[in-house]
Amino acid sequence: PVVTRFAPSPTGFLHIGGARTALFNWLYARGRGGRFLLRIEDTDRARSTPEATAAILRGMEWLGLEHDGEIVSQYENAPRHADVARDLLARGKAYKCFASQEEIAAFRETAKAEGRSTLYRSPWRDADPASHPDAPFAIRIKAPLEGTTVIRDRVQGDVTIGNDQLDDMILLRSDGSPVYMLAVVVDDHDMGITHVIRGDDHLNNTARQMMVYQAMGWDIPVWAHIPLIHGPDGKKLSKRHGALGAQEYQAMGYPAAGMRNYLARLGWSHGDDEFFTDAQALDWFDLDGIGKSPARFDLKKLENLSGQHIAVAQDAALRREIEAYLAAAQLPALTPSQADGLERAMYCVKDRAKTFPELLEKAEFVLTSRPIVPDDKAAKHLDTVSRGMLRELTPQLQTDSWDRDSLEDILNRFAEAQGTKFGKLAGPLRAALSGRAVTPSVFDMMLVLGREETLARLNDAAA
Ligand code: GLU
Repeated sequence: PVVTRFAPSPTGFLHIGGARTALFNWLYARGRGGRFLLRIEDTDRARSTPEATAAILRGMEWLGLEHDGEIVSQYENAPRHADVARDLLARGKAYKCFASQEEIAAFRETAKAEGRSTLYRSPWRDADPASHPDAPFAIRIKAPLEGTTVIRDRVQGDVTIGNDQLDDMILLRSDGSPVYMLAVVVDDHDMGITHVIRGDDHLNNTARQMMVYQAMGWDIPVWAHIPLIHGPDGKKLSKRHGALGAQEYQAMGYPAAGMRNYLARLGWSHGDDEFFTDAQALDWFDLDGIGKSPARFDLKKLENLSGQHIAVAQDAALRREIEAYLAAAQLPALTPSQADGLERAMYCVKDRAKTFPELLEKAEFVLTSRPIVPDDKAAKHLDTVSRGMLRELTPQLQTDSWDRDSLEDILNRFAEAQGTKFGKLAGPLRAALSGRAVTPSVFDMMLVLGREETLARLNDAAA
């Protein structure tokens, strides 16, 4: 069974790139009946904060990337990491190194001056244990001295590294703390991770991590190092390209489904398919579809996909998501009656809205209450003539059959009797019902508002 993981370092919010990594791991596991685990890489005590962990969890929750099992804290596993280092020492795969910082620095300086590799070669690797001083030591792995290490990567292909590039890296520092590179391997092994899907900025670490797998005789997971995300200009994604935090997109009013679809397409493709549902993404996602060159962030595409997801979403679900958006954007919450009205209006406002702010603007007629104050454009439709027309119309709308057919019938007949076209009526009606010149159709507004509210607004405008 497939087991993947997302392993963020809790030093900030959930970055767009991190969100995509999490999504790929989630899709890969969930699409195969596997498990998707979450590990917080909090070994760097100075930079890790609980607030950052909370922010990452909120971001994942927004995106619906639910993980399986308990959250693993890497820091809490430190004793286990140290045990593995000591195990390697006991089995002769690692050794005690008594070199001081000064000695190592001096080695590097000389090597550099002489134009040799600065990869540290500890003289303690082959020292006779009888000669060991009674002093603090670090545990170093015995790196292979010749040959090559081949990373069989599902995205990058075979990546070959000369073992002369690998140093006897420290596993356990002299203060007893394990290094990150050891922690990742031990945790991935203990968590049963079968596939490691992560940014290709980690590729350099992979050969070193493979030394630990090999020394322990553990199965090496399938590697998939995905290219980082670039901005539209092809440069590494940065603040000047726009928001970097995944959840900032929630606060801008993009639906989670649109964001998921967009992030899935950022570096992965399935033929010409751009818009797809979660079910399709889960069905289609595979490592073969991941591109080798960096994907470019494209806000237009995010907007486009978001609009399509808003249009097909269930009204009640949209209502909940919009309420969450308002909270995320620190905007005033809807009252229960506004939220009910919004849900009733959803069918006629969700088409062609790329974001929730756009949708809410269209739905404004049902969110505002009387008196309706017309804006400048709408006010032009409420001159003396049209107010007189509205006055004549209202009695005819005192009907018990408040449905689309009856309303169309009444308005068409009224227009005919006035010797005009329905089109001429629409402007004043829109202005009276919404105070705006651009709105959903007059019939939709009348149906959503209901008879009493419609008549009250028309009477207000006619007065
Ligand atoms: N903690 C690392 C990061 O945030 C990820 C390590 C990994 O996926 O192996 O970039």
